[in-house]
Amino acid sequence: MKCGLEIHQRIAGKKLFCNCPSELAEGKDPVVIVDRRLHPVFSELGEIDRASLAEFKKSKVFEYQAFSESNCLIELDEEPPFPLNREALKIVLELAMQFNAQIVDEVHIMRKIVIDGSNTTGFQRTAVVAFNGELETSKGKIGIPLIAIEEESSGIVETKNEKTVYRLDRLGTPLVEITTTPDIKDGKHLREVAEKIGLMLRATGKVARGIGTVRQDVNISTEKGARVEIKGAQDLKLLPEYSSIEIKRQEKLIELIDELKKRNVYPLKSKQVDVTDVFSKSSSPLIKKELEMGGVVLAIKLNGHGGLLGTELQPGKRYGTELSDYAKHAGVKGIIHSDEDPSKYKFGDEFSKVREKLKLAENDAFVLVVAPPEKAEAALNKVLERANMDYVPEETRRANPDGTTTYMRPLPGRARLYPETDVPPVYVDEKLLSETKDSMAESYEDKKKSLGKILNEQMADRMLRSKHLKLFEQLVAKGVDPMLAATTIENTLVSLRRDGIVFKDEKKALAELFDEYLKGTFAKAAIPDILSGMAKGKNVKEVVKEKNLQKITGDELKKIVKEYKGDMKAIMAEYRLRIDPKDIKVKK
Ligand SMILES: [Zn+2]
Repeated sequence: MKCGLEIHQRIAGKKLFCNCPSELAEGKDPVVIVDRRLHPVFSELGEIDRASLAEFKKSKVFEYQAFSESNCLIELDEEPPFPLNREALKIVLELAMQFNAQIVDEVHIMRKIVIDGSNTTGFQRTAVVAFNGELETSKGKIGIPLIAIEEESSGIVETKNEKTVYRLDRLGTPLVEITTTPDIKDGKHLREVAEKIGLMLRATGKVARGIGTVRQDVNISTEKGARVEIKGAQDLKLLPEYSSIEIKRQEKLIELIDELKKRNVYPLKSKQVDVTDVFSKSSSPLIKKELEMGGVVLAIKLNGHGGLLGTELQPGKRYGTELSDYAKHAGVKGIIHSDEDPSKYKFGDEFSKVREKLKLAENDAFVLVVAPPEKAEAALNKVLERANMDYVPEETRRANPDGTTTYMRPLPGRARLYPETDVPPVYVDEKLLSETKDSMAESYEDKKKSLGKILNEQMADRMLRSKHLKLFEQLVAKGVDPMLAATTIENTLVSLRRDGIVFKDEKKALAELFDEYLKGTFAKAAIPDILSGMAKGKNVKEVVKEKNLQKITGDELKKIVKEYKGDMKAIMAEYRLRIDPKDIKVKK
């Protein structure tokens, strides 16, 4: 196996080519809606990109929703882009330095053709910032051949029949793209590499956090198979699963193809036959509905495929599923094939009638599509195209949440990049480099070392991965004991959450809590009680007063110590929430 990784991480701040904020307009209504169609054009090399063409053939309409605070004319491609966002570039330069990569002298913005409609321009702007970097891992060094800055695409809202709806709030958000060499050894190593790069990105404190802000694309190829790109893996835990399922899929596909070659089926030539009459009285609800809407049932024979369409290639996904995924790209809901159970569709003797009509031999198979005539025809063309691939096709596949993948489109060809003429290049001069160094955060490795000095190893590791790492650093800078800050963030908050106690704004609550704590208002042990009171919307002082949690110090403390004859255990049993043990020691 050869395996490499591509990580895309959103950068916080402003968009890459305009001044709109890089924030989603969640819960807001669009103020403008625009419909567009895209058309493939020849690249400077005189080629049409095959991925673009595949998308164009679907003749889709794209609807774009624009939002008042997140969009301007630039996202709608109605105004030329501004120069590249310098702050975002500095963050990518900072990362390039951490990967020990060679930084380019001039950042040239390029256009990468993207014709699924997710960019209003029909291309994505991208620029190489550095190359030839490296990453230390438990299984040796991995190359980082490319570090780039890119603009994020639009977010998909829904796909209706001929229309795909996109939101423009996300479009243009800066992304850093980090690519590794295909030197990843196995699934576990893949996860390690992805995790480490993720931690390095987060350590900058300048990247966006939360679901969807980081995406992993995995490139896998096997010796006899092909290169496949698995797109959009979000869950790091599933990375080993994706690689092992993909390797097995390719192996099983090769076995299947060998069997088909033995049966001498290639090249498949098959005429489409209208078998609507076979189904005219069908009691299948699916067929009835489609026929009522003017649909037809078309069929093709697949020579020598009998019994093989049901071959499982991924858990729960068969060879028939692969054919079906290609057919879906012609806009049909799926296919019906002869290796399926006819009762699944409530068929009677329709299958045998189709076999008769197509004059099938024992080990031949058939595929049916029920849809409007043009769509049905296009869908069966896709099925035949896929069935004729007597090799593992190079594909881009979507990562599913169960570890399997689904065909998305052919792997993009090479004619994808051409220069962006609307945005001038950026010269990476001494000034830009020194500005980058000035605003540079402590690197992941350095942070690991410095956290190791103030926390135990386990807590240092948890803090490094915590979404509240920045808050932790702020609290420590204010004078909060590091271990107390860390346990409050990583243990107390988590156990409160388990009890259903949540904050609208955890950061704000913790900052408020520790400001009062540092003033000596309450004891350490009272923190969980105070937090649970604060979650109900009260401020720290109110909770302390209401729950009677004022810290006991001075004369009152002396009196208690005297009363209990200095019996620490007895004192703490009575006043655990109100006395800090360290205060007693001082008094002794
Ligand atoms: Zn804008």
